[in-house]
Amino acid sequence: MASGDEDPPEEMAAEEMASGDEAPPGAPSTGEDVCPDCDGSGVVAAAVCDTCGGTGWVIEAVGGG
Ligand SMILES: [Zn+2]
Repeated sequence: MASGDEDPPEEMAAEEMASGDEAPPGAPSTGEDVCPDCDGSGVVAAAVCDTCGGTGWVIEAVGGG
């Protein structure tokens, strides 16, 4: 029973976690919502919506004032 040369799986899992630096889509402090200005179309008056930048979605902070 000779073992100890290979790295433990625990360290690998820890490294994978550090790799995911970006916050997940469902972050607790932010939330995606349909743009109220263009109603999710991304266009207002034949122009790119300035509120959402043409995505039709806006990120709003949840739990604010
Ligand atoms: Zn918009």
